[in-house]
Amino acid sequence: MTPSPAVETPRVEGPRVEASRAAAAPRARPMPFIPEVETCIHCGLCLNQCPTYRVTHLEAESPRGRIYLVKAASQGELDVTASVAGHLYLCLMCRACETACPSGVQYGRIAEAAREVLGPPGPPLQRWMVRTTLRHLMPSPRRLRLAAGLIRLAQRSGLVALARRVFPGRLRDRLAMMPEVSPRFYAPEAEVLPAIGARRTRVAFLSGCAMSLFFTDINEATVRVLRRNGCEVAIPRGQICCGALNVHNGEADSARAMARRNIDAFPDDVDAVVVNAAGCGAAMKEYGHLLKDDPAYRERAGRFAAKVRDAGEFLAGLGLRTAPQPVSLTVTYQDPCHLAHGQRVRAEPRALLAAIGVRLVEMAGSDRCCGSAGIYNVLQPEMSETLLREKMDAICATGAGTVVAPNPGCMMQLRYGAQRFGIPVRVMHLMDLLDQAGA
Ligand code: SF4
Ligand code: SF4
Repeated sequence: MTPSPAVETPRVEGPRVEASRAAAAPRARPMPFIPEVETCIHCGLCLNQCPTYRVTHLEAESPRGRIYLVKAASQGELDVTASVAGHLYLCLMCRACETACPSGVQYGRIAEAAREVLGPPGPPLQRWMVRTTLRHLMPSPRRLRLAAGLIRLAQRSGLVALARRVFPGRLRDRLAMMPEVSPRFYAPEAEVLPAIGARRTRVAFLSGCAMSLFFTDINEATVRVLRRNGCEVAIPRGQICCGALNVHNGEADSARAMARRNIDAFPDDVDAVVVNAAGCGAAMKEYGHLLKDDPAYRERAGRFAAKVRDAGEFLAGLGLRTAPQPVSLTVTYQDPCHLAHGQRVRAEPRALLAAIGVRLVEMAGSDRCCGSAGIYNVLQPEMSETLLREKMDAICATGAGTVVAPNPGCMMQLRYGAQRFGIPVRVMHLMDLLDQAGA
């Protein structure tokens, strides 16, 4: 391998791989051949865009290093060990490497396929907990509401506050990350809500699991904005979580089952499936790939995926119907990884911010991961906190009192960061701002 002159020389390519061989894990399954690895030309242009490489300066914690590991494992040159799994699971799945890559490597697909072999991350008890949650909680809106209701009870009764005082450091930090459950869960008044004024189009709306439980007000704001802009909005009752967490954490089979249920639940006669959570939108745009080996769903999945639009992307494309009231605010914008890198949507949210008259001050590295990454902040707290501190510094440097981040994971993480580091910044969703402007 010849390191690119544009990047720092990786410190440990060979030795880390050797160490991984020594620590063979009996639970490992053989890694299949993943064709996407062949598109990597080993140029190294992705390295300095990779958050974990920027922190560790280790080749094995870079996109190129991880691709080497997956390829070597698939060729039988490397055992799939706990150490190899550790490198693959320190990855945030932020896909910043895809944006940087001149060769079009679809790193996300490589990592997802490798994780399907590895299963959920961590030691046995953690693996069991993650697997149980992903298989039995995430596909069931009823169980999710029950679990969130219990958390809400614990938050309201002061039990969580008490636990945060008496629990030791790491556990206390994890409790502090837990967002407030909404006072009521999202429950639209009907399955189809008419457009306000003349109808311009008909869309379906993904209400989402986290958005329905933690951000009810933002779901309501999103639907109001869509309706005011001439959209008839279908909100199918049979929809469930999109499966993004499953596919990112080695539970692809359950993710496929969840994708099939959503494809069955959503109506065909809509122009778009609108999603206000970047991670969910990115996952649903991949349904065609996820179900490519399922002859019964392959074509429908492709058609469904082609209709998925982020809410900001959709509204910017549709055009706001009326000039909104200007909002007198100075804001900075956090590009959610799965919007900027996963869906290549960057200009549209900024255009909408400009349309409502806010003053936008760009932060350094706005498309760098905040360390949230699904459940990463819980499973990899040290790396997550390092990235969060860097992000909060970048936000602070803008002087903006509001940061806009159209993704629930980023919003939770940035709110935790503001509290953790004592930064007086308000975290808002783009749809909230548009709604306030009467858009
Ligand atoms: S997805 Fe993000 S963390 Fe993972 S290798 Fe790519 S840039 Fe690095
Ligand atoms: S993933 Fe892309 S940018 Fe990174 S080393 Fe391979 S070809 Fe180069």
